Amino acid sequence: MKVPSVDLRAQYARLRGEMQEAIHEVLESQGFILGPKVEALETEIASYCHTAYAVGVASGTDALLLGLRAVGIERGDEVITSPFTFFATAGAIYNAGGVPVFVDIDPVTFNLDPGQIEARMTPRTKALIPVHLFGQPADMEPILEITGRRGVKVLEDAAQSIGAEYCLQGSWHKAGSMADLGCISFFPSKNLGGLGDGGMVVTNDKHLRDQVMLLRMHGGRTKYVHEIVGYNSRLDALQAAALSVKLKYLDEWCNARRLRAGIYDSLMAQAGLGGNVRGPVIQSYAKSVFNQYVVRVERRDELQKFLQGRGVSTAVYYPIPLHLQACFKYLGYKEGDFPASEAACHEVLALPMYPELTPAMQEYVVAQLSEFYIP
Ligand SMILES: *Cc1c(COP(=O)(O)O)cnc(C)c1O
Repeated sequence: MKVPSVDLRAQYARLRGEMQEAIHEVLESQGFILGPKVEALETEIASYCHTAYAVGVASGTDALLLGLRAVGIERGDEVITSPFTFFATAGAIYNAGGVPVFVDIDPVTFNLDPGQIEARMTPRTKALIPVHLFGQPADMEPILEITGRRGVKVLEDAAQSIGAEYCLQGSWHKAGSMADLGCISFFPSKNLGGLGDGGMVVTNDKHLRDQVMLLRMHGGRTKYVHEIVGYNSRLDALQAAALSVKLKYLDEWCNARRLRAGIYDSLMAQAGLGGNVRGPVIQSYAKSVFNQYVVRVERRDELQKFLQGRGVSTAVYYPIPLHLQACFKYLGYKEGDFPASEAACHEVLALPMYPELTPAMQEYVVAQLSEFYIP
């Protein structure tokens, strides 16, 4: 049996008619940059994320970059984040002129360990980016307490977790809506994926909304009048039209992912794989949207090859922690600085996860895991 790690064609097969109609409308209008489709999506995403505002930008990476510029990051400002995340989180800090400062993760959730944040803060710490990795929100309550007390801005990297929720002071909040601003990605393999690159900044702060709107249009409100130096970073109408169609299905897809995560959990428990394959742990404060279903295993690389041979595609997010990337050598980190992140890089494996994954496929995947570990 062949089990891909994602299957976007299966999703498209169901949406073909609606998607083609939406794209056709944009083609007939010949309006491609911003415009009514983008404004409509911004309203829909703000409402979905329970924020006052949303601003469409060219990618999730740019949502972070423009967000950092909007909160006032300047050359030399320190920005704390996790070394166990997609490169864009730290890349955006660098490109905004900031200095990435890493704090290790909680080995159970893979998210920033709030207990280690304060020790890394200095008078130059200006912002912090918690990453809601694999679909599970980071532990925001202690993060917001520490940053609030120290006057540090917070940008949520919600690129993998639109729709996820966190229980903050007794009530549930959407990922991206709890801090100064939230950054969403519409990269095709994210839970809400476009037809190419796209992203959005969500916020309750009108000033930050206005800043991101300025920054995405070369720093100008009026044509040829520039208040600040910004970027060309806009969401286009084709993306917005496609995303508006898909947004209607997002909750259904998130529930389908949760259901499949539960199926993996129980199949692995039944197979007695507990000692070899440790499934994701979702904390009681979080509702994950399982952008990925990531297990920790021994002999990871050997297992990945074995599974590939059996037709099961998997992925390693992420093989190298950011503090050990060549481009960040100048920051002076070394191996051993963040043991939980380094261990995760050696042990994680993302199993196939998408709403159209069938029970038979999941049984097949777990059967292969059993054959590898319990021959
Ligand atoms: C995907 C992703 C990004 C970047 O989003 P793009 O739309 O690909 O630019 C940023 N952070 C994390 C954690 C991501 O997974």
